[in-house]
Amino acid sequence: MIPYARQDVDDADIRAVVEVLNSDWLTQGPAIERFEQSVADYCGVKYAVATCNATAALHLSCLSLGLKPGGLLWTSPNTFVASANCARYCGADVDFVDIDPLTFNMSVTELEDKLRVARRQKRLPDVVVPVHFGGQSCAMERIGELAREYGFAVVEDASHAIGGEYRGGRVGACTYSDLTVFSFHPVKIITSGEGGMILTNREDLQQMARLLRSHGITRDTATMMGPPDGAWYYEQIELGFNYRMSDIQAALGASQMLRIDEFVARRRHLSARYGELLKDVPVTLPALEAGALSAWHLYVIRVNPGNRSHSEVFDGLRARGVNVNLHYIPVHLQPYYRKLGFKPRDFPVAEQYYREAISLPLYYGLTDAAQDLVVGALKEILE
Ligand SMILES: *Cc1c(COP(=O)(O)O)cnc(C)c1O
Repeated sequence: MIPYARQDVDDADIRAVVEVLNSDWLTQGPAIERFEQSVADYCGVKYAVATCNATAALHLSCLSLGLKPGGLLWTSPNTFVASANCARYCGADVDFVDIDPLTFNMSVTELEDKLRVARRQKRLPDVVVPVHFGGQSCAMERIGELAREYGFAVVEDASHAIGGEYRGGRVGACTYSDLTVFSFHPVKIITSGEGGMILTNREDLQQMARLLRSHGITRDTATMMGPPDGAWYYEQIELGFNYRMSDIQAALGASQMLRIDEFVARRRHLSARYGELLKDVPVTLPALEAGALSAWHLYVIRVNPGNRSHSEVFDGLRARGVNVNLHYIPVHLQPYYRKLGFKPRDFPVAEQYYREAISLPLYYGLTDAAQDLVVGALKEILE
């Protein structure tokens, strides 16, 4: 079976983890700072806060921005549920902005239209979460302009997109946003087993995220309410969580960062090669967003209606040993969100996309020969 995604862990990664296991610190030690610094330097951003996963990073981002009951967050329906759930954790409401049919990212024209209506109805979002689908940045320049015009905060869900670039800068630089979140789940570009990270250029947001990551506890006398009772003293000044990453995970993440350019280069090679091999096959290939250079987490094709059905192609590939996947079931169609009032046809572009999309295998260790098998299987089904 050829998987759709797979981590690549080498001997240097394993040595880095073993070194931590033999050290004094399994958590909250120096590997965390090393990993945070390497990602911050790579992205060209001031602050990085490692978390136990990207879901926690999204939650902390929303809390740091002050999202609360009565608040409102907008995101893309074509994403993993966590991009929307983070608002619900804060007691805030969620709404969605339909996607662009070519890039599968949040549509900026839909966003503009929805903002105009929302202004009239006096129900503007507090936070917008653009999701860099498949590793390709959304149209962040325009989203940043809209944020200033309408007064909302922006959290980039870049779970797919570490290593991606946008208008000459790295995804994660937060040039057009308040915060950016990465995921280091094993299917993503680099992995720490489980893990996430928050990036920001704002000192206030990184301080709050750091505080809430560990129970809302401070050991810094400057932020305490009163003088310390003694050397043991700490104060809990907010209601936080245990959302920390361990040093074991951070060691793996920091070691993987040493190979990120190699990972992304291979993904770019494979996606360009898919484009070449599939150019005469009757499927729709992914389009590129202006100014964006994708990290290529996913390679998604769309099955053209009228040829073979979507499930014939999907099941046919799996039957031939190609473990394709589908990203994503539109979030608003999940039973939890339907209970909140969303229904079919609310976001028709994302729903049509869902009826046609298939994620082909794409990962660092995918060989050209295995990729040829994938393409061969697809051609056989479509003939
Ligand atoms: C993977 C993913 C997440 C969640 O990441 P975890 O690290 O597993 O919590 C959130 N958003 C998107 C778009 C993702 O792909």
